[in-house]
Amino acid sequence: MRINLSKRNIKDPFVVKVEELSGQNLLACYQCGKCSAGCPAVSEMDILPNQIIRYAQLGLKNELLQSKSIWICASCFTCNARCPKGINIAEIIEAIRQILLRKREDHVNLNKLSDAEKGDVPPIAIISNLRKFTS
Ligand code: SF4
Ligand code: SF4
Repeated sequence: MRINLSKRNIKDPFVVKVEELSGQNLLACYQCGKCSAGCPAVSEMDILPNQIIRYAQLGLKNELLQSKSIWICASCFTCNARCPKGINIAEIIEAIRQILLRKREDHVNLNKLSDAEKGDVPPIAIISNLRKFTS
């Protein structure tokens, strides 16, 4: 992945928004990796939880918004419980999802699923998908 680092990125309104929505101080993270070591979903992630924090510190907005990790995260809060700095990583990931959802961009588009595919999806998943746009 090609990464574009610049002073402008670090001061990007995206970084401010993530901190505002999550209520977390991104710079409190010292990259110990305990969040990623305990996350049950890392095998499916393209950016690990500690890397998500690092990318956010550096203002790597496009990389984060295009990452599948933000949708893989199950909000189980294991990372929050393990962080020695008391950082709520799950809330930071939720904030990044919210930035997309508020633009009405979602990882799953129900309208693009066939009837057969919808039939295979648990009803609660369909309801959850619709609820995402009500917060
Ligand atoms: S909340 Fe998300 S990132 Fe944190 S441990 Fe659970 S699945 Fe992993
Ligand atoms: S556990 Fe906390 S301090 Fe350690 S890498 Fe994760 S967010 Fe940063």
